[in-house]
Amino acid sequence: MSSALHALRVALAPLACALMLATAGPSIAQDQPATPPPAAEPSRAPKPRLILAISIDQFSADLFAQYREHFTGGFARLLTGAVYPQGFQSHAATETCPGHSTLLTGVHPSRTGIIANTWYDPKLGRDVYCAEDERNPGSTAKEPVVSNRHLKAPTLGDLMKQANPAAMNVAVSAKDRAAVMMSGHQTDAVYWWLGKGFTTYEGRTVSRAALAQNAATDKLIDAGAPALSAPQWCEKVDRAVPIKDFTIGTYRFPQKAGDYKTFNRTPRIDAATGDMAVRLVDELALGKDDVTDVLSVSFSATDYVGHAYGTEGVEMCIQLAQLDATLGTLFAALDQRGIDYVAVLSADHGGIDAPERLQLNGFPSAQRIDPALTAEGLSKAISQETGITVPNGQVIHGAGASGDIWLTSGLTVKQQKKVTQALLARLAKHPQIAAVYTAAALAKMPVPHGTPQDWTMEQRVRASFDPEHSGQVLMMTKRGVVPGDPNPAYTTTHGSPWDYDRRVPMLFWRKGMTGFEQPDPVETVDIAPTLASVIGLAEPSGTWDGRCLDIDGSRADTCRR
Ligand SMILES: [Zn+2]
Repeated sequence: MSSALHALRVALAPLACALMLATAGPSIAQDQPATPPPAAEPSRAPKPRLILAISIDQFSADLFAQYREHFTGGFARLLTGAVYPQGFQSHAATETCPGHSTLLTGVHPSRTGIIANTWYDPKLGRDVYCAEDERNPGSTAKEPVVSNRHLKAPTLGDLMKQANPAAMNVAVSAKDRAAVMMSGHQTDAVYWWLGKGFTTYEGRTVSRAALAQNAATDKLIDAGAPALSAPQWCEKVDRAVPIKDFTIGTYRFPQKAGDYKTFNRTPRIDAATGDMAVRLVDELALGKDDVTDVLSVSFSATDYVGHAYGTEGVEMCIQLAQLDATLGTLFAALDQRGIDYVAVLSADHGGIDAPERLQLNGFPSAQRIDPALTAEGLSKAISQETGITVPNGQVIHGAGASGDIWLTSGLTVKQQKKVTQALLARLAKHPQIAAVYTAAALAKMPVPHGTPQDWTMEQRVRASFDPEHSGQVLMMTKRGVVPGDPNPAYTTTHGSPWDYDRRVPMLFWRKGMTGFEQPDPVETVDIAPTLASVIGLAEPSGTWDGRCLDIDGSRADTCRR
């Protein structure tokens, strides 16, 4: 043996001994009582004093993914919390009213009863708006007397007030249906934008805070505003795309003095909504005592901008940059007041771009819906085919974004059967139609559970089906078929059962929490049970369609009772 090799063996000997000991480890442990490291039960965090529930109207998971790296304001704070990039508005009718109805009730539209923004009422012989009291003779679907009467499920705020009447339940949005569906039945203040200012339910007084906000907004609108500048990261989407005889893609929201008409299609309506929320916090002393309050804020401009200019132009890029700042201002105002709050942010539905730009951007099959598939087109064809006509009217109603089709009132049973059969046959062979369902078949199906991305089309439709309000026939268009004839205020929409309309981010944040990213799919019906658990509100099983999500990445479990 060379002396060098001998030296190596000597050096290795203690290591070999150590390895043997390690291998023998378990038998040593058997001889001695195991002493696991001290595992103190993680203590439950004190209840937050305020739930801040934020909805961004039409904020798809796709938009969130596209822009999240650029956020520096309120979104950036939320990104340090629990981030679920794949939340699902699991149902098929991805419209504003159904979507907002799931956010704080924890149940699908099949239980909230809010199956679409409007539905046809055969007894009244007219459309009824989801947030309308149609019993009031002054109410119409277009100019409704706003009401919560159609919401069949309690909201989190309702349950909090039931448990303790001192809890405050407050909501504000530019849209009445958003504020109504997030707050529910037992409310302390509910405000929405109506033409020239924030207003509330008939018979309630517009408070001092709302009057002050309206005066401030008047001043802002009367002054007008220069065009907004686009951040450098908007460069890629900053190009004009023709739609019929106008273009989208480069608008920067300049405001003429006194222009109330387009104000709510600009980021400024979101800033006003955020300011109004802060005024309500002060007026009602939200988050000040140890009874938790809930403040719902639904920001509508993303939806108005999406409808008018699509999702892939400089308009949406500017809108999201401005909204990021607005959210930052709202959070900073709560911080300044020393309020301990838990925030959640999600959306009522996603969205898709205008088909003309989708075609340019690598989605060649995107197209506008065939006018033959509108209520007018279908009625005309069915009447011609069956010989069944209605004086001064159509044999069918609906066929809008939600896909519900209602037969008109006054048809005999035989006529109803004939119209339905003709309708089913016509829709089944249309190249833009993916599937057609009847109310009778849907009513026999169970409401689906489990991972929402795996649901069949029929299951998605079932989750927004309510026998009292849904159509007799439901038509689902193929992926990338966009309803509506475009005009400069309206170039695209949502409402389909496809994931671009169903997938929305779900973000939770509270000061001091351990954040994480979880791409496993979750549902917007999980939000209510999750927040209920955070504030220690126990409800009987079966209350929710969703489940509690543990939103703290540390060993603390926010679902543990
Ligand atoms: Zn919406």
